[in-house]
Amino acid sequence: MSSGDFCPRCGDPVPERAEPLPGMPRERDEVLCDECYFEDFDLVDAPDEIQVRVCSQCGAVHRGNRWVDVGARDYTDIAIEEVSESLGVHLKAEDVRWGIEAEQVDENSIRIHCTFSGVVRGTYVEEDVTVPVRISRETCQRCGRIAGGYYSSTVQVRANDRTPTKEEQARATEIAETYIAAREEKGDRDAFISEINQTPEGPDIKISTNQMGRGVSKRIVRELGGSFEEYPTLVTEDGDGNEVYRVTYAVRLPKFTPGEVIDPDDDDGGPVLVRSVRGNLKGVRLDTGEEYEARFEEGETPDARTLGTADDAEETTVVTVEDEHSVQVLDPETYESKTIARPSYFDPDGATVPVLKSRAGLHILPPDAVETDEE
Ligand SMILES: [Zn+2]
Ligand SMILES: [Zn+2]
Repeated sequence: MSSGDFCPRCGDPVPERAEPLPGMPRERDEVLCDECYFEDFDLVDAPDEIQVRVCSQCGAVHRGNRWVDVGARDYTDIAIEEVSESLGVHLKAEDVRWGIEAEQVDENSIRIHCTFSGVVRGTYVEEDVTVPVRISRETCQRCGRIAGGYYSSTVQVRANDRTPTKEEQARATEIAETYIAAREEKGDRDAFISEINQTPEGPDIKISTNQMGRGVSKRIVRELGGSFEEYPTLVTEDGDGNEVYRVTYAVRLPKFTPGEVIDPDDDDGGPVLVRSVRGNLKGVRLDTGEEYEARFEEGETPDARTLGTADDAEETTVVTVEDEHSVQVLDPETYESKTIARPSYFDPDGATVPVLKSRAGLHILPPDAVETDEE
């Protein structure tokens, strides 16, 4: 079997080996005899120890150079994963099989036992390695920021010439929470609300980034009407000398809200029940039932005074339908019969109708006015 080749370590003759193809790397130990080759052969290359950094607040795991949410309850799976990725199997091994098992030693240490087998130089080899994994509990950047009250933008929800209603305040807060929760859900670790302050004028919502403050403001205005403006303030310079701004998004909800009954100043068409304030104010005339729409330049805030809201309406008795334009009802306060305007939505077969008594007199409201349906 020998043809003049000898093991360079022990001098024993070795069988002739095929020359590697030109350009192929030659393994350093390839010329050794089997005995010398296996003497310091490692089937598996494993690290002495692995450290896994986890956030003790939210459970995120530090990977590469960032924190990632893994949704793990215990870290055994994470330990197995990290160890598996760190193991190297000898390139010459064929028919490799392996098993891996975790042993929880205590809260912060896990031992990963791995068993490998393979065939090298026609010989079956087996190797066991144990990699200790240390769990190091820290606070991730996001949890640190939340704990420290960090924010980059404030959305101030206010209204034009009035205080936002309880419903508007609650809805604006809900819009912010839903938007941020959806971003978080998508894995955006920069998305959070650090504080909501209920001021007498309306809520101040402190949000992690400027971009999300703008997103929240847009959505509030899209749903509740009004507009918003941005006011940046320089707070500091970061380590690289970049200017860091905080932005206040001042949301102004419209002066009038759906369900309100207003009397536009510059026409004599009578009171209007407000239906929508998105874009420009739209509603219905209570004298006739005709549509009302504020002029483009008036937008959602035409000059008008408020007479009441649909919630103030009372159900009263229809005494008699006089003609196409008038009907007699009972005044809900004095119980006197009164002749008032008959709007097109008035149902002549009904025994009662909802009416609003205001400075402008008695007016019949549409039957669906009381539940304001904005969508
Ligand atoms: Zn040898
Ligand atoms: Zn965390």
